[in-house]
Amino acid sequence: MQKCQNCKTDFRIEPEDFEFYKKMNVPPPTWCPECRMVRRFSLRNERAFYKRTCGSCKKDVVSVFAPDAKRNVYCPLCYKSDKWDPFRYGQEIDFSKPFLEQLRQLWEEVPVPAVFTENCVDSPYTNHTHDSKNSYLVFGASVIEDSAYCARLANTKDSFDVTAGSKMEQCYEDISCNEAQKLFFSVRSENCFNSYFLEDCRNVSDSFGCVNLRNKQYHIFNKPYTKEDYEKTLAQMNIGSRAALAELRRKVEEFSLRFPRRFAHVVNSQSVTGDNIVNSKNCRFCFNVYGNLEDCAFVVNANDLKDGYDGYGYGAGAELLYEGADSGVNAGNMAFTLFVHGSHHVRYCFNCHGSSDLFGCVGLRSQKYCILNRQYTQEQYDELVGKIVQQMNEHPYTDAQGRIFRYGEFFPPDFSTFAYNESAAQEYFPLTADEARRKGFRWRDPAEKTHAITIRPETIPDAIRWVPDSILKETLGCAHRGTCNDQCTNAFRIIPMELAFYRKMNLPLPDLCPNCRHYRRLAHQNPYRLWHRACQCAGTHSSNGIYQNQSTHFHADVPCPNEFETTYAPERPEIVYCEQCYQEEVV
Ligand SMILES: [Zn+2]
Ligand SMILES: [Zn+2]
Ligand SMILES: [Zn+2]
Ligand SMILES: [Zn+2]
Repeated sequence: MQKCQNCKTDFRIEPEDFEFYKKMNVPPPTWCPECRMVRRFSLRNERAFYKRTCGSCKKDVVSVFAPDAKRNVYCPLCYKSDKWDPFRYGQEIDFSKPFLEQLRQLWEEVPVPAVFTENCVDSPYTNHTHDSKNSYLVFGASVIEDSAYCARLANTKDSFDVTAGSKMEQCYEDISCNEAQKLFFSVRSENCFNSYFLEDCRNVSDSFGCVNLRNKQYHIFNKPYTKEDYEKTLAQMNIGSRAALAELRRKVEEFSLRFPRRFAHVVNSQSVTGDNIVNSKNCRFCFNVYGNLEDCAFVVNANDLKDGYDGYGYGAGAELLYEGADSGVNAGNMAFTLFVHGSHHVRYCFNCHGSSDLFGCVGLRSQKYCILNRQYTQEQYDELVGKIVQQMNEHPYTDAQGRIFRYGEFFPPDFSTFAYNESAAQEYFPLTADEARRKGFRWRDPAEKTHAITIRPETIPDAIRWVPDSILKETLGCAHRGTCNDQCTNAFRIIPMELAFYRKMNLPLPDLCPNCRHYRRLAHQNPYRLWHRACQCAGTHSSNGIYQNQSTHFHADVPCPNEFETTYAPERPEIVYCEQCYQEEVV
């Protein structure tokens, strides 16, 4: 057992972990897996924007770096130009100072792009997004068109408020859905059309409030209707009214608790623990794995990766990655990297691409044998790296909380210019302002952003048919009034393509800001934590007596003997079944 340097709880390092650390030539970690995950997430701001001045052309630019963040922020044009040279900021190694302190100084000086987008057209308010057009407030996404308020999404168009998934069209308020059209307010559903409030459904169309259905049409709360009755009942529900919709949302949530859920979504994989894993093997504590992961652990949002540990946004053709975020893309042997693609033999680098043999560099492209943005020969490089590793161990960086960062530790949290509640950490490990400060993170009060609200939340028209075009000029107040922990922006606007969408689909205007809507969807995603539990199938019904099995299971009328690792905490109200029992109930 090892004691976490950060939270002081004990954690176990498995024999195969030591093998991995040996391959990477790094010492075992001194922070527990969860603290390491939070630390990685805290270094990434995906969704908070500010106005800043470009460090080069001095024009206004939309940036993820707040005006008070110590960074040399460049607008996209200046950043892409050849007006600047990252070697100009190069530093001589000073062996009398902790190495990470020198790296932090370099990090503050080398130009950074205002936002992290690639090939996005007419989409200034997007971040960590590529190959998209006419998109607004879209984060961590690719190939998005005419859409807004989406995150972690691919190949989607004409959609609003969709989080996690791919191939969505004309969709609204969905989470973890794939290949859908006109699907609204749905969770973990695939190949579904013209439907509302589906959960864990496959190939379902023209339905409302259904759970665990396969290949069905015209169903409401899992009951079949004729086409005419379905249409009549749906019209009576009055979905175009926000008040009616809120009541329906409450009913659906109650109804869904009467059905079993699968312990984890694992497809065609062997020896894996975690959730949402396809086509992978030997992975421990991994989440959102889109295929081809092997011998990995503590990885979130990844594909095509062998021997990868501790990553967020990881892979795309990579091997031997350790402690990184947004790293990979035909890469190998990289550790302690933030936004590093197509590189090999890299340690402690930020925003470097197509390079090899870099140690402590920022903003380099297609370079080799560099330390603190200075060029060395191969011989000098090898010798200096050895000396730096030794110096990092003997003269480590220590932060204000007294936490020690020797060689083998990821970037200290105080390297981040982002407050905890504007980083991805708040999305998965939400804290209150007091909790965050106690843990040594900064917090940004929403009061810092003030907007003149012209329509208070309680006076936003209830039905879309009462909304005039002039709404586009108004500033609406969020019903949470900045009092929640959901990055609430207090105020928000309606954009033209969004208003047209609500009208076409007969959906009411929201009374929550985009961030509060995003966090409400995230509540349907389980935490990146695992509990060892037993299947809750008691034979003919669920162990809490709520769900009656529809078929006879392999274990007949005695309780199912299966156990598993699940993201459902034991105290949660959902009925959790093993894969076998779940499949028996959804045919
Ligand atoms: Zn810990
Ligand atoms: Zn809000
Ligand atoms: Zn079972
Ligand atoms: Zn069973």
